[in-house]
Amino acid sequence: MKHTDFIQALSTDDLDAIRAAPKTDIHCHAFLSTRLKNLEHWLGFSLTRPPRKMRGLEEMMEYVITVLAPHQKSREGFEFVSTSGINDAIQDGVVGLEMSFDIMMTRFYADGLVGVKAFIEVLVERYRPKINLRPELGFARECADDQEWMELAHEAIELGVFKSIDLYSHQEACPPEAVKSLYAKARAAGMKLKAHVGEFGGAEEVRRTVEVLDLDEVQHGIGAAESVEIMQWLSKNRIQLNVCPTSNVMLGGVEDLAWHPIRILFDNGVPVTINTDDLMIFGQSVSEEYRNLYQASVFSAQELEDIRRSSLTSIGME
Ligand SMILES: [Zn+2]
Repeated sequence: MKHTDFIQALSTDDLDAIRAAPKTDIHCHAFLSTRLKNLEHWLGFSLTRPPRKMRGLEEMMEYVITVLAPHQKSREGFEFVSTSGINDAIQDGVVGLEMSFDIMMTRFYADGLVGVKAFIEVLVERYRPKINLRPELGFARECADDQEWMELAHEAIELGVFKSIDLYSHQEACPPEAVKSLYAKARAAGMKLKAHVGEFGGAEEVRRTVEVLDLDEVQHGIGAAESVEIMQWLSKNRIQLNVCPTSNVMLGGVEDLAWHPIRILFDNGVPVTINTDDLMIFGQSVSEEYRNLYQASVFSAQELEDIRRSSLTSIGME
């Protein structure tokens, strides 16, 4: 597909043509990566929808724990959702997918990391003709003071199956220093280093986390838009922010899509990408995120085309 086609697809609101353009999703959590309707179809019954607006991560986790987790907290549930999420991405024209697999998934396997590795390797191979699946090791901040999870994460790096690492959950749960040795090990193994920070403000914390963990990219990081100095610093150091616009609006980090700070970040030269976060909760594919940003006049079609292409370049696909 020629690049002008994507521009035309946006300006004529041709969703099928938007989907046909190659795209990336580099902020995607496997456990919540497929559409809710696919989980419902698999279960054979419907589930309560997530609220359209939530009070941050607390309310989202309340929904996940009470509505979703009881049905998918098993090896079968985890494997169904991850596989279905990859299929959703392929249907949406995603050709490069950095999907995060939480270290806690090992509890679903009697043989622990051996089973995890086998499952992920099969996924990578099976979908290789259609998508560049780059498995990511996900680590929740709450696990940082748990010796067992920390040791397991160190072992997971040695598997050689994970191409990147990500840290998430409540920023207050642990300072970045608590995972410094884990990140040093991931760096030595040649992995890309990412972490969630600045999802709900806090420009200085974005810079501090990047510095302490030597991050290559930041998941969200939109709080950096509060500081021109920090945006200039991110731009100069080519630190990419993997932004999820609908997630930010639904969790209350951003009031309205039309005023999403991704515009300010972009104008200040910060590399940005557009991603799903949790399709099961936020309901918008990457194509739909592009379309929403265009229709809300956050970006022109040409600017979205530039973001699409630079996202592909960022994972070595263009
Ligand atoms: Zn996320």
